[in-house]
Formats: sequence, structure tokens, C-alpha cells
Amino acid sequence: MYEVRDVGVVGAGLAGLYASKTLLREGYSVDIFEEHRAVGIPKHCTGLISSYTLYLLGKPAIKSVVNAFDRYELLFINHKGDKPYRVTLQFRERVYLVDRVNLEKKLYEEVVAQGGRFFLKTHINRVIALHGKYRVSSNGRAYGPYDVVVIAEGAKRVLVRKHSLCPNVTNAIGFQAMVKLREGLADVPYIFISSNISRYFFGWLVPYAGREYLVGVMDSNSRATEVFTKLLSLLRKLLSHNITRIREFFGGYIPLNKLCIGGSNRVIGVGDAISPVKPFTGGGIYGVVESVNSLSDALKLLREYGESTELAYIYGRILSQRLKRLASHHAVKGIVDLVGGFSTLGVIARLLRIKGYCVKYYDDMLRLGKPLLTS
Ligand SMILES: Cc1cc2nc3c(=O)[nH]c(=O)nc-3n(C[C@H](O)[C@H](O)[C@H](O)COP(=O)(O)OP(=O)(O)OC[C@H]3O[C@@H](n4cnc5c(N)ncnc54)[C@H](O)[C@@H]3O)c2cc1C
Repeated sequence: MYEVRDVGVVGAGLAGLYASKTLLREGYSVDIFEEHRAVGIPKHCTGLISSYTLYLLGKPAIKSVVNAFDRYELLFINHKGDKPYRVTLQFRERVYLVDRVNLEKKLYEEVVAQGGRFFLKTHINRVIALHGKYRVSSNGRAYGPYDVVVIAEGAKRVLVRKHSLCPNVTNAIGFQAMVKLREGLADVPYIFISSNISRYFFGWLVPYAGREYLVGVMDSNSRATEVFTKLLSLLRKLLSHNITRIREFFGGYIPLNKLCIGGSNRVIGVGDAISPVKPFTGGGIYGVVESVNSLSDALKLLREYGESTELAYIYGRILSQRLKRLASHHAVKGIVDLVGGFSTLGVIARLLRIKGYCVKYYDDMLRLGKPLLTS
């Protein structure tokens, strides 16, 4: 029989916090290591999630909602200066915008209240296997022993590479600015598709709260400085006369790999450390929630009947089932890139006179409903 009692979690981002909360609730003892001095920093995420993901994250997420939308407007902009072609994505369920920093702070409070032990300002550089257990080490100081180590280090993927969970890493880069405008500009998110803004992805404007907006650009195959320059150019073109204040710039890596192997023995990756982000609409938080819930299910199965060596295998099986649609998204994105990127979809939509789509599930944009056609 297989007994897990002590778990070490590396990284107190959303995946590490949600994993800690879930495992504490199930009776495990949890230590959490975070290299920064507090949770919630540095900021990188927009915070758009489906209602499904919102309810799985529970009360901390519900209390962090700042806005909600029933549609996105896609604007296809060509370089000839024609009027942008607009396609509406109409959602069956609402998409929520959450304050990510607030969400992480609330999760942190819950984890502390449940008895989780935090080690802040502690960068873990090694996970060491010793006599059937694990220790994690930070600059020569070892912590543990643990029965399971959960790696929730996010998109930089250093430890998961050391443990061969992710052999190669391909990231896009996303930058955004929180801006305050003189007057309201839009009440739903706008996605800007133009090869001038982003060769492989897009730019966005998301109404935050009041007259505050998140304006961002994401691209792959570009250096960080190039993406940042494109963001500045988008800000200039879109909003220059209207901005009263740029509150902050922030951003980070967005993993584009296929789903990695979930774990090796009892070293298990969750969140951006192993999960790809859905290329059309973000969706990284969905990957966080599904990977943590897969780990919880795998541990439950093994607690009843299993052998310890089977944790990574069972976790991997459950995870690949839950996230199999992400693989299809990446295949479709590959085809879209081959035919000339998202801009080509705009040309096709214009030709077929498609003015919108009903989206059944925000987390699975491939399951679209009927197209809405112009009369
Ligand atoms: C610009 C941008 C916009 C996005 N928008 C959305 C969106 O709208 N919706 C959505 O669902 N997703 C979005 N995402 C993706 C989403 O942010 C990620 O999927 C999510 O943050 C992943 O959480 P995580 O905990 O796995 O990683 P992270 O949030 O990156 O957390 C990793 C944590 O681990 C810590 N850490 C790393 N290495 C170590 C170490 N060795 N020792 C100790 N601590 C360590 C880090 O300091 C960090 O706190 C966006 C991403 C970007 C960059």
C-alpha cells in the first residue's frame, strides 16, 4: 500500500497555491517554497477565465471578479488601410475577468489557515531523491523529506527540464499595460488581428474596471523588446489622445509546447510548468486547475489500491485525458500559421460573410456553434 503524507510544493503562483489548498483539504501536510518575497508578484496574467474554471477555483476567485463578458469582438486589420473586418464571438456562458493578485492573496490566506507552511524568498534549485523520499534544496540548504514534490514553477520550466518532464521549451511572450482612459472606449474585450501588431498571435484591449483597461500584445518567434515595442505602438495608435495614466507594464512567458509528461516517479509538474496555454484565448488558468485536479484524483486512486511508483503514470493518464483538447488547439494553430496566420482567417470570414460565431465552451473554442452570417 502506498502512503503519501508530506508534500513539498515548489512555486506559489496560482498552480502552487491551488495545489496546496487542494492537498491540505485532503489531509496532506504541505510546505510551499516561493522565490519572491510575497505571493502575487511579479504580475503577468490578464485573468480571463470561463465560469467552469471560476467555480472550480471557488470562493477566492469569485471574490476576485472585476468584470464579466458575454462576447469578444475580433477586429481583422489589414495593412491596406481598409475598414477593419469585425467578427463577434458570442459566448453561451459568461467569461470572467479576475484580479489575479487578489486571487493569489486570498488563496495564500486560505492555505495558511489550513496549516500550509510557506518558505518565501526561497529559490529551489534541486530536487534530490534519497531513500525513497525527496528533499528540495535551496543554495545548499535542504528541506524535507517529502513523499511527493509538486513542481509549480511556471513557464520558465527549469526544474521540469532537469527531471526530464519537459525536454524542450517553446514560449511566446506577452506584455500588457494597465491604462486609465479619459472616457470609456469599449465594454467588451477587443482582439486585434494584424500582422503589424503580431505575426503569429494578436493584441487585445480588455475593459478592467471603471475607465481602466488592459492593453496587450502576444507574439512568438519575437524577442521581448520587439513585443514591448509593438505594445507601445498599439498604445500610441489606439489610445494616445485618450490615456490619462499608464498605471503599470507587466508580462511574461506563455508556454506553447504540447502537454509535457506530467511527472516522473513522485516528482509531479502542474500548471504552466507542464501544461500548454491554449493558443486562441489564453486558457492557462484552465490548465492549472485541470492539472491540480488530475493530481488529486491520481492520489485518491493510489491511496485506495496503488503502488507509489505508479503516481506519475496514473497522473499522466488522467491529465492527458483532461487536457486532450489543448492538443487539438495546437494542431489547429499549426494549420492557421501555415496558411498565413490569423489574418487569413479574417480574409476567409470576409469572403464567406461571417459576422460571428456562437461559442459553446470558452475553454474549448474548437467546439463552435453555428456561424452568424451577414444578410
Ligand atoms: C501576458 C499574459 C496574459 C495571460 N492571460 C491569461 C488569461 O487571460 N487567462 C488565462 O487563463 N491565462 C492567462 N495567462 C497564463 C496564466 O498566467 C498562466 O497559465 C498561470 O499564471 C500559470 O500559473 P503557474 O502557477 O503555473 O505559474 P506562475 O503564475 O508563473 O507561478 C510560478 C511561481 O513559481 C515561482 N517559482 C518559479 N521557480 C521557482 C523556484 N525554483 N523556487 C521557488 N519558486 C519558484 C515563481 O516566482 C512564481 O511565483 C497569461 C499569461 C501571460 C504572460
